[in-house]
Amino acid sequence: MLRFDPTTLPASSDSLRGEVREFLAGQQQHLQNPNSDFTTGHDPDFSAKLGEQGWIGMTWPKQYGGGERSFFDRYVVTEELLAAGAPVSAHWIADRQSGPLLLRFGSAEQKQRYLSGITRGESYFSIGMSEPDSGSDLASVRTTAKRQTDGWLVNGTKLWSTDAHRNHFMVALVRTEPVSENRHAGLSQILVDLREDGVKVRPIRNIAGGEDFNEVVFSDVLLPLDRIVGEPGNGWQQVTSELAYERSGPERFLSAFRVLFEFVRAAGASPGAAQAAFIGRATGHLLALRRMSISVAGMLEAGQSPEVEAALVKALGNDFEKLLPEMARLAMPDGSMDDESWRNFRQAFAQTLLLSPSFTIRGGTREILRGVIARGLGLR
Ligand SMILES: Cc1cc2nc3c(=O)[nH]c(=O)nc-3n(C[C@H](O)[C@H](O)[C@H](O)COP(=O)(O)OP(=O)(O)OC[C@H]3O[C@@H](n4cnc5c(N)ncnc54)[C@H](O)[C@@H]3O)c2cc1C
Repeated sequence: MLRFDPTTLPASSDSLRGEVREFLAGQQQHLQNPNSDFTTGHDPDFSAKLGEQGWIGMTWPKQYGGGERSFFDRYVVTEELLAAGAPVSAHWIADRQSGPLLLRFGSAEQKQRYLSGITRGESYFSIGMSEPDSGSDLASVRTTAKRQTDGWLVNGTKLWSTDAHRNHFMVALVRTEPVSENRHAGLSQILVDLREDGVKVRPIRNIAGGEDFNEVVFSDVLLPLDRIVGEPGNGWQQVTSELAYERSGPERFLSAFRVLFEFVRAAGASPGAAQAAFIGRATGHLLALRRMSISVAGMLEAGQSPEVEAALVKALGNDFEKLLPEMARLAMPDGSMDDESWRNFRQAFAQTLLLSPSFTIRGGTREILRGVIARGLGLR
């Protein structure tokens, strides 16, 4: 059943929060265009600096370059980076999801080969789940990997693969056996080197004018046998286990945070009634979501797999972050479109408004998350 135990961040996280703020104060060159959306801002130099600080792979074993720290520490660092609008997208997927996947299911050699580059902030991963006719219904993926004597021959197309044109690797979900009555059987995850394996990566422009996601085409791409992650055929179990990591973090409700931040800053110490009402309402939602997300961090820390709770945090969080620019627009005071002190707000607002349609689609749509929650409640 669904539960969110009250969880408090340990006292030690206060000093870590201070450390992150102090570090960020010295990184103004990387913070010229702050944006709290985790997919904007691909800055390898900044990722490498975070690696040096030990803030990537924070919970992983030291033997792979990790910090053996708690999920609470990771939470604090993540929250501070997003709130500041830092450029985190280069290492984000590798740190959040591909690394933990390899730690759990990868071979000893794969862990050795891939993890330390991630923790140094030098090695970046993409998620290869969606395809042209397969997004929500992931079990319908049609990309195949056929076993040959000397490798796996991969054919098919992945779609919406975030940053595949900038990243080094992709973990792709592929069919290694023909479809059977059990649609979830016969799927596997395979590691692709996006720069060396001869795949075609074509960026797709989004409504905001950015080229952040891609079409990735595999035409008779032969991958070495040791690229399969985990057991061949175990792909469905593995891919669904990634989702608690993918869906529960503060990035699922902080994407529009800079809009609120700049609004509060511009509204000043004595906001008008409409501005104060907006600030109070938005902050109330934010604090509730934050408590839920910290509770999920506590479950991850305890070694649990809270997929349903994560889906709830994401569903509510995405609704909030999508609505935030609209709430802010309604609360903007007269004259703020021309007022110099509202300039930063206008910039954050315009950027976020254009990105916000994606908030309730990426990582699982609103309808799909509601289905997961209903199943978790025993309603379907
Ligand atoms: C910005 C962005 C970045 C992304 N990055 C990645 C990435 O890096 N890697 C990756 O693999 N994918 C990525 N995606 C793809 C994303 O995961 C899919 O778009 C998403 O899962 C929806 O799949 P779809 O687009 O095929 O839509 P569909 O599955 O066709 O859904 C269309 C509509 O039908 C609804 N629907 C579908 N099935 C049901 C159902 N059973 N019950 C009720 N309603 C239903 C959906 O909720 C949606 O409203 C990204 C998407 C975006 C927008």
